[in-house]
Amino acid sequence: MKKSRSLRTISELAQEQLVAAEDVLALEKVAAAFNVAITPTVATLLKNFPKENAIHKQFVPQVAELEHSPEELADPIGDSQFEKVKGLIHRYPDRCLLKVANVCPIYCRFCFRKEMIGAGSDAMSSADLVKAYEYIREHPSIWEVILTGGDPLILKPAHLKRILDQLVAISHVEVLRIHSRLPIVDPEKVSQQLLETLTISKALYIVVHVNHPDELTPEVIKSCASLIDKGIPLLSQSVLLKGVNDDPDVLKSLFRKLVANRIKPYYLHHPDLVRGTSHFRLSISEGQNLVQQLQGHLSGLCQPTYVIDIPGGGGKVPLGPCYAHQSKDGWKLENYLGEVFSYE
Ligand SMILES: *Cc1c(COP(=O)(O)O)cnc(C)c1O
Ligand code: SF4
Repeated sequence: MKKSRSLRTISELAQEQLVAAEDVLALEKVAAAFNVAITPTVATLLKNFPKENAIHKQFVPQVAELEHSPEELADPIGDSQFEKVKGLIHRYPDRCLLKVANVCPIYCRFCFRKEMIGAGSDAMSSADLVKAYEYIREHPSIWEVILTGGDPLILKPAHLKRILDQLVAISHVEVLRIHSRLPIVDPEKVSQQLLETLTISKALYIVVHVNHPDELTPEVIKSCASLIDKGIPLLSQSVLLKGVNDDPDVLKSLFRKLVANRIKPYYLHHPDLVRGTSHFRLSISEGQNLVQQLQGHLSGLCQPTYVIDIPGGGGKVPLGPCYAHQSKDGWKLENYLGEVFSYE
């Protein structure tokens, strides 16, 4: 049987009728600016759903990506000023990011690192990694190291194992975390060998990126369960995206499906000011309004924290909404039904 592989060019997408023939020329420009990859799992989903659905919008390149608006930034969350050695971002005192991979199994069209990843971007070399380990060793305040990218789980298991071994050996690093989309978009790649690699002697958390309940197919749920059954707690992060999940019912169903499968929703991200993504963006008040519709109506287990990364490098802040207001005669507390109570 022919082994299915990812779709990586606009002509392959056109052959599969995922993009319109008249858009091919413009989309070649889109693909030249930011890689295209659609895994077999997601390609199957695309065939099973009508066009213009949440899966299509996330992964199939659109001509709208060529439109850049003035507020959009190449480095939307200002990582570069906190890059202490190549690939290591140290913004918060007790944790740092290590961008160990510069490629992904799939390319999300709204990606906040789209200008830093993909073919043509620079991967961390072994020498860069050695410098990063040194930096971490010299900074005892670093309690947690977060592997990110790109997608760290796309690395060869032997390479990933060497990285994990080095980090585990640093005594003040007590927690490791991996941010990945692989179990969601390419569940077959969660192999026995990868599971063995991820079995380490310190706490390891995996945060999977998932935005819509339709991404959680039976195969995906199985790949996530295989990680959890190895003793790895799974959390999720989602990006709030116009036309994908900006609907309270979609968010409710996503967060419930995650929790029912032992994955704890961690963050709901307000979309970053990435170039060519204005078609995905909604306003903070629209986001707060959506989140407010979940509060109280949905189990606390299903509530992620709604956050924004301040453009330019201020870091992450929760966006509320806020239910406690101070006035001259004490506090006013508002419950999920909109009823207001005094608290003195
Ligand atoms: C998001 C982020 C982290 C992780 O933050 P948490 O709130 O702990 O999830 C760490 N470092 C940088 C630079 C980040 O952008
Ligand atoms: S998986 Fe993450 S890093 Fe990779 S393209 Fe998607 S959003 Fe970007």
